[in-house]
Amino acid sequence: MIEQFLKPAAVDEAVHLKRQYGDKAVFMAGGSKLNAAPTRTDKNVAISLAGLRLDALTVEDGQLRLGATLTLQQLIDDPRVPAALREAAGFVYSRNLRNQATLGGEVCAKQDEAVLAPVLLALDAQLVYAGGAVVAFERFLAGGADSADALLLAVLLPDPARPCVTRKVARSAAGLRVLTAAAALSSDGVCIAVEGVTPVPMRLRDVEARTSGDTGLEQAVSAAIAPEDDLRGSAAYKRYIAGIVVADLVADLKAGGQPTQGGN
Ligand SMILES: Cc1cc2nc3c(=O)[nH]c(=O)nc-3n(C[C@H](O)[C@H](O)[C@H](O)COP(=O)(O)OP(=O)(O)OC[C@H]3O[C@@H](n4cnc5c(N)ncnc54)[C@H](O)[C@@H]3O)c2cc1C
Repeated sequence: MIEQFLKPAAVDEAVHLKRQYGDKAVFMAGGSKLNAAPTRTDKNVAISLAGLRLDALTVEDGQLRLGATLTLQQLIDDPRVPAALREAAGFVYSRNLRNQATLGGEVCAKQDEAVLAPVLLALDAQLVYAGGAVVAFERFLAGGADSADALLLAVLLPDPARPCVTRKVARSAAGLRVLTAAAALSSDGVCIAVEGVTPVPMRLRDVEARTSGDTGLEQAVSAAIAPEDDLRGSAAYKRYIAGIVVADLVADLKAGGQPTQGGN
């Protein structure tokens, strides 16, 4: 249970407080996860990020820097944010929650349902930490970065103009998602990423090599993922629908980024 709520006014102070209280303390952004059952924190000290002024959105040398405490709704409302990322933020169905939950919280929580992750992977997002470390989001997800105690300052999109499309599959807007997928077109070719049908959100690099041809893409996706039977659907259904969704997204990209059909 949180017994102390600390409100640092600068990044250095927040980092110092985390060092001082160590494992007893947690950074608190929107608090939607830390305050909600069943994910309520068992730490005693909350270090608020509200006073750190990490909610700026800036464009530098063509790169988009999204401050960690921008809320999901602020992402949706800013036309400088890539359309696919705005759409993915809208996959979090409740506007009340989108007004509270932050980009940094969504990234750092590493939760099972990570609907922004495929777009961030497809756009080669990088994470900027206090102290200056910059870690590829893909590496962070794979556990290759020791970031449990690190303060995330911003998410960097090196190529925000990259054509990118995303889709979530769920029975209803408020229902548990079956999967989320995204595809983007970089100078190296098509980037494809999924979550919900793999142990962690990930790029499907073997599948990306298959996107130049017109055949076999759905089967390649189905073979590349590792879904499990659960209340959202059978593994067989998830393999099938993931192949369809990714093939649709690649078709959307080839059609100029416009959805070729609706989805939820
Ligand atoms: C009712 C409800 C419904 C939800 N529905 C959805 C949904 O449909 N889809 C979905 O994807 N999610 C959903 N969530 C989860 C919610 O969107 C995420 O938990 C949220 O994005 C977390 O953001 P936050 O800013 O509130 O994080 P917080 O709760 O403040 O923090 C979450 C974690 O991230 C860490 N953290 C936060 N910011 C930083 C930072 N800058 N640096 C380092 N660590 C940091 C915190 O220490 C904590 O461990 C739901 C949550 C609730 C309560």
